[in-house]
Amino acid sequence: MVAVVPPALAGPVVLTATASAAYLALAAVGLNLSVGLAGMPSLGHGAFVGLGAFGAAWARTRLGFDPVAAALAGAVLAAAAGAVTGAGLAKLRPVMLAVSTWILAWLVVTVLAAFPGLSGGARGIPLPEGVLVLEGIDRLIRFTPGVHHGVAVVLLGAALLAYRRTDLGPAGIHLAAARGAPAAADALGLPAERLRGGTFVASAAVAGVAGGFSVQLHGVADASAYGPLLSVELLLAVLIGGAGATLGPVVGTLALVTLPSAARLVAGLLGADASGFEAVITAVLLLGILAAGGRGLLPPRRGSAARVEPADPPPPPTATLEAHDLARSFGGVRALEGVSLRVATGEVHAVIGPNGSGKTTLLRILAGADRPDAGEVRLDGRGLSQAGVVPRLRAGVARTLQRTMPFGALRTEEHVAAGAAIHRRTGPLRWLLATPAARREDRAVGAHARGVLRSLGLEWLEGRGVRSLDGAERRLMSLATAVGAAPSILLVDEPSAGMAPREAQVVAEMLRRLRDRGLGLLVVEHNVSLVHEVADRVTVLEAGRVIATGTPAEVVRDPRVQEAYLGRTG
Ligand code: ADP
Ligand code: MG
Repeated sequence: MVAVVPPALAGPVVLTATASAAYLALAAVGLNLSVGLAGMPSLGHGAFVGLGAFGAAWARTRLGFDPVAAALAGAVLAAAAGAVTGAGLAKLRPVMLAVSTWILAWLVVTVLAAFPGLSGGARGIPLPEGVLVLEGIDRLIRFTPGVHHGVAVVLLGAALLAYRRTDLGPAGIHLAAARGAPAAADALGLPAERLRGGTFVASAAVAGVAGGFSVQLHGVADASAYGPLLSVELLLAVLIGGAGATLGPVVGTLALVTLPSAARLVAGLLGADASGFEAVITAVLLLGILAAGGRGLLPPRRGSAARVEPADPPPPPTATLEAHDLARSFGGVRALEGVSLRVATGEVHAVIGPNGSGKTTLLRILAGADRPDAGEVRLDGRGLSQAGVVPRLRAGVARTLQRTMPFGALRTEEHVAAGAAIHRRTGPLRWLLATPAARREDRAVGAHARGVLRSLGLEWLEGRGVRSLDGAERRLMSLATAVGAAPSILLVDEPSAGMAPREAQVVAEMLRRLRDRGLGLLVVEHNVSLVHEVADRVTVLEAGRVIATGTPAEVVRDPRVQEAYLGRTG
């Protein structure tokens, strides 16, 4: 690798070039946090590099900061800009996100150019070689190209290690959930937008550090160096190398920095103008990546292969979940009115009713994802109405969504581990440092996840990537993942929707198995024969009201049900 040429063998020109490339790679690794982990393809990271650079330049020239403190100040400025924009960006689809960040890329250089007093105008802000005084040991470090080379390589190594730890640890699982199926992640107590927005801030900070040091290497902060072209180059570096691959941005940066020589070579062979050729090769590379479906040279992670012995999940404690007189309106639509029901551990309670009768609204309110206008939710007599999704998950109430994609990047056992997120006690800092407590907890969660798969008879799915599963297997995984949260009561929204009878049979067997393991299930279901087969009790909703409740046989005989529901749907 260019970046690890030993300083003693190279002159300042070469060292400046390799240090510069390593800082660029560092910014690209930062961008990979955003693209690969948060699923946010930013076309504006050049702006964060630029803010880091100008932050450092201002800190050096106006505040008298030393080179390291100045670079950190730049990183803080970039992170602040990332925080201001990240929350909004995390809500956007990838295409809108790329457009919005592209505007950001223009905005920062335009504003800098408009205020020459801040940016130094066309000449930029000159920065003399920095000196770091180490008072304790009475030494000076002059930031020569050789020192920059060392700093850049160390920072790049640290960033790569941090990326890998994040990707393969709990944060990687949670982020894969957040970018794969945000609504399903939210239902598991993983706040998708906050997780992705937070990762975007970290990503901006790393780009800011790279800018803060590299500007000192080059000796001048010049706004024109941080324009949209830099943003394109950074994204290109990530995409060429492979978004989501730890070393992808480094490989991509190498490809980019060797591009000019390659361009000269090819131009020479073809007798063309070398300066125009670099742009041509860049465009060809970009088209090649797009044609390959966005895949780069290196593959993204395929999941951690940590082998831990499965630990059988303990049986759920007994519990009763009750709804009392729930009401909920959306504008003029009364989605629920006076709805009461109860479900206890060890039983399957089915909720049936035509489309739009309020079934999903009921489940959302029971799970804490929505608040009723009136009425109460109680678990074992305790009022839960004020509790959100996370406290309800901790209290033992979990929910699966009506239609949901799996968290595509994960293996089955990691998918179940995502369900156990709310039970983790260690946080991102300890995951990053891989402290003993974090490792212990990770092994325990892994063992729990494998135990859940075994206890549900799904060990044959172990080690598979969830992307490769068929429809029924995916539905089973979404149930197993909710069981990963160790609930007493499971709220299941249309588990057999869109399934052939044979597949629905597989799901019915799983529902019975969950009940036999002691869970209480409240199952919204369209398939009446499946309800007959698995339900102990049935509640029928129509237009937000309960029109019948009883055993499946009683409910089917009820004339109001025959008229209102069964009669209509056949
Ligand atoms: P079901 O799951 O039985 O098909 P829902 O609970 O999804 O029914 O919806 C019940 C009614 O409430 C429908 O008329 C639906 O359009 C309305 N509704 C549900 N959620 C919302 C919402 N967030 N905003 C506006 N209307 C909603
Ligand atoms: Mg529904």
